Amino acid sequence: MRIVIIGAVAAGTSAAAKARRNSEDSEIVIYEKDNFISYSGCGMPYYIGGEVESAGELTPRDPAFFKSKYNVDIHTLHEVVSIHPDEKKVSVRNLSTDEMFTDYYDRLVLATGARAVIPPIKGTDFEHVFTLRNINDMNQIKNFIDSHRPQSAAIVGTGFIGLEVCENLQKLGINVTMIEKLPQVTPGLDSDMAVYVEEHLKSKSVSVVTGSSVEEITEKAVILSDNTEVAADVVLLSTGVRPNSELAKSAGIELGVTGAIKVNSKMETSQKDIYACGDCIEQFHVVTGKPVYRPLGSTANKTGRIAGDSITGGRLEFRGVLGTGIFKIFDLTVAQTGLSEREATEQGYEVVVCHNIKPDKPEYMGGKEMVIKGIADKNSGRLLGVQIIGYAGVDKRIDVFATAITYKAQVEDLFHLDLAYAPPFSTTKDPVMYTGMILD
Ligand code: FAD
Repeated sequence: MRIVIIGAVAAGTSAAAKARRNSEDSEIVIYEKDNFISYSGCGMPYYIGGEVESAGELTPRDPAFFKSKYNVDIHTLHEVVSIHPDEKKVSVRNLSTDEMFTDYYDRLVLATGARAVIPPIKGTDFEHVFTLRNINDMNQIKNFIDSHRPQSAAIVGTGFIGLEVCENLQKLGINVTMIEKLPQVTPGLDSDMAVYVEEHLKSKSVSVVTGSSVEEITEKAVILSDNTEVAADVVLLSTGVRPNSELAKSAGIELGVTGAIKVNSKMETSQKDIYACGDCIEQFHVVTGKPVYRPLGSTANKTGRIAGDSITGGRLEFRGVLGTGIFKIFDLTVAQTGLSEREATEQGYEVVVCHNIKPDKPEYMGGKEMVIKGIADKNSGRLLGVQIIGYAGVDKRIDVFATAITYKAQVEDLFHLDLAYAPPFSTTKDPVMYTGMILD
């Protein structure tokens, strides 16, 4: 069996590795149009800020590694330009030589990922304006900072990527302004939780502009919708990503309502023997069962593994996402899972919420306040979502909540969880348990 995979970052390489584990005899080929493969994109902001010292730490694997460990042939700088499902063929362009050739497959996996959205603003083509999606973007930003020593930066968009870069630029001594067109920062959070993030940014001398969009970028500034100018020697556009689903669409593969590729729980697309995984696919939400697009590395690796299993006759099936996410911004950790209050209300739930403010461990052990917002369905008592902002221990709490929501916990169940306690780690009644007590 000949397996062809398109894309060699998180999903494509996971699919290849799992396919090889299941099937010793298959030929596995990956085409990747970039020159970097299987890298840790999530670490890129920390290389820009200097915490990760060498770019090589984020790109530890090359095609030779995959050949020797998995007997997988990865062709970098090779773009698949079209798919011909009837003939089970793909047309490929070698980007080094511009030569075109055709390859055939028995199973095809699309792991084409996503790309950064470039908003329609005048001036995005200046050399000091960047997006951050891949290692080449990262290197360009780093080189620009090293050679131009910018004093000021504007970051357009206040999602987790923008905020992580904000922290790293500020640590380099660059004055950062975060610009958000919505009335709050971190659009994924409810506004009553986002205020904690905004206050923290300001306490770290980051300027924050909300409710205003960028109209134009000039050589030294960005101009906002109310005509104010924000100094910006460097600009990062972090206004979200869009799935790379055009190749699939032009091959007649069905897209979902979000514009990403529609797959079933085995990662099969609408075309026979063509699978898709990672940031190019639409997922479904564990709570609502409805389609969502939550492009995250955690899910890309998981769906890649499922695709690799499916194409080699395995039985793994995808069980959906809660959109569980976490990031650090200076001293704060911000995390969420499940539905926000806004989403739950839009879905028609009669929502009850609580704001549970407790230390993450006893104050005599240095415990600091953690804010947990719990969102539940009044009628069924089911926990729907949680958002947490705190200084320590946020990661373990959000994962407990994600597990509880996955297994359809009622709020009253939270109190009964047998959670670990010793003073260096928690309080006798863990904040997770308190959340259940308050919501119940
Ligand atoms: P991609 O990484 O987009 O890779 C797809 C590859 O396919 C690309 O290399 C592309 O060149 C190639 N390709 C596309 N079309 C073709 C074609 N026609 N022919 C050949 N090759 C093609 N996620 C988390 O869960 N936690 C985090 O903390 C986190 N932090 C992040 C921080 C940053 C700065 C960024 C940018 C992302 C972060 N993510 C995080 C998201 C995570 O990196 C992505 O979800 C993950 O990379 C998706 O993997 P993928 O393989 O599906 O897609």
